[in-house]
Amino acid sequence: MRLYINDVAVRDGFQIEKRFVATATKIELVNQLARTGLHKIEATSFVSPRAVPALADAREVLAAIDRVPGVTYVALVPNLRGVHDAASAPSKPDELNGVVSASETHNRANINRTHEQSIAELAPMVRAAHEAGMKITMSLSTTFGCPFEGRVSEEVVLEFVGRFRDAGFDGISLADTTGMANPRQVRELVSRVLERYPPPDETYYTLHFHNTRGMGLANVVAGIESGVRSFDGSVSGLGGCPFAPGATGNICTEDLVNMLEDMGYDTRVDLAKLLAVARRIPAIVGHDVPGQVMKAGQTLELHDPPEFLRT
Ligand code: ZN
Repeated sequence: MRLYINDVAVRDGFQIEKRFVATATKIELVNQLARTGLHKIEATSFVSPRAVPALADAREVLAAIDRVPGVTYVALVPNLRGVHDAASAPSKPDELNGVVSASETHNRANINRTHEQSIAELAPMVRAAHEAGMKITMSLSTTFGCPFEGRVSEEVVLEFVGRFRDAGFDGISLADTTGMANPRQVRELVSRVLERYPPPDETYYTLHFHNTRGMGLANVVAGIESGVRSFDGSVSGLGGCPFAPGATGNICTEDLVNMLEDMGYDTRVDLAKLLAVARRIPAIVGHDVPGQVMKAGQTLELHDPPEFLRT
């Protein structure tokens, strides 16, 4: 079975790093990731440079990266203004990814908007993106729980998915922003969403998990069993959340690929190449990263038996 893997490290991971990652390094990383067989790469975001100084170089990054055929280059946009900024960039992303939180408190904390304000912009965002020749998807943050409000009602999630669909978005991502999802919840909620709003194609729905409480990969398996085929990860497991102290990052892309390929799924990702990228990250960010396969090696990377067994 074909699965689609997207990497968000350069956006979701770098946005909270204290050390500014040089534009040239970001460009190099995007180019290396693009040659590993990944489906999409979230390369940057069009947000206020005051709010997220780490990604203030969106235009430069997009203008300088190679466009590897078959790879979709994505930029995050928090609102209509972000769509206009992306549309006026000299080199546009292929696809934009909007964001609204299922929880009102998180929406206000994250993008400084009420639900009403966000909802009013949905259709205009789609129109502006399509007019500029870009696709646009929408992420529902805190789908599986909010660090301020706790669990979000399933009805609220279903309502938002319906709104996104009606507004004409090209895809919908259900995001577990601070790692509060568990596999049973994923199976129940995602099955309900797909039942009520069947996907027009394999990559319409994406699941975006954080591994904050160690359930990230288990949640992916539950998502596959519920019918989702597209998943986000972050190379080396970079990332976190500014509102959830101690929150670790996204699920780690190479750990995800290692698991899925072991399970017999077809990700089209060259794991050895991806691991080579992951192993560069600690030196770039100046600290250790959560990735496990980059330390342990691929599942079938064999070791010499102990001395006393060798003759
Ligand atoms: Zn995230």
